[in-house]
Amino acid sequence: MGYNRGSQRGNLIVLSGPSAVGKGTVLSFLLEEYDDICYSVSATTREPREGEEDGIDYFFMSTKKFKSLIKKNEFIEWAKVHNNYYGTPKKYVEETLASGRDVILEIDIQGAKQVKDSFAEGIFVFLAPPSLDELESRIYGRGTESEKAIETRLENASKELKQVEEYDYLIINDQVEKAVKKLKAIIVAEKCKVKN
Ligand code: 5GP
Repeated sequence: MGYNRGSQRGNLIVLSGPSAVGKGTVLSFLLEEYDDICYSVSATTREPREGEEDGIDYFFMSTKKFKSLIKKNEFIEWAKVHNNYYGTPKKYVEETLASGRDVILEIDIQGAKQVKDSFAEGIFVFLAPPSLDELESRIYGRGTESEKAIETRLENASKELKQVEEYDYLIINDQVEKAVKKLKAIIVAEKCKVKN
């Protein structure tokens, strides 16, 4: 009996978690260590933060442009998060999965729910802080948001933490290296599944 190894689609991995939990840091370590996974760059209407680059961190765009892409059905999912629009461009994800490579999305829980409707076989991972107090000090420590924006993000965080049951895996980000190891282990294990 031979194995059909050539035609397998890649896995779609969805990573969510509250603002400032460290998704970006965990992801950048993962992508550095593990070449086989592709990051899907989202579109957003939020203003770039210092050091962020268009096409690398996000595709930054006006609300008008974002809405025109919604109309053209160019997103797998989109959502309004902390008063800005965010969305996952469909073309990149579909082409990369079809080429057999894994794709990782870093999106909020509203988006993850929509992805589940169209990619039920996706792997849903939730990154949580050790506690809400810890999260609060991380958001303040980051110093990139106004007081008002911080409040919105904290309110959203406690709502988001209650949604963890919708996910397949939970990683507590108490230490970045450990969290990266766990995420990598999940991705590798999923790749080894007999059905894959
Ligand atoms: P930030 O503005 O801090 O980069 O991201 C704010 C939130 O938007 C985070 O929870 C992040 O996961 C979420 N987000 C980023 N890109 C997308 C996307 O394409 N779709 C959805 N639904 N959420 C996103």
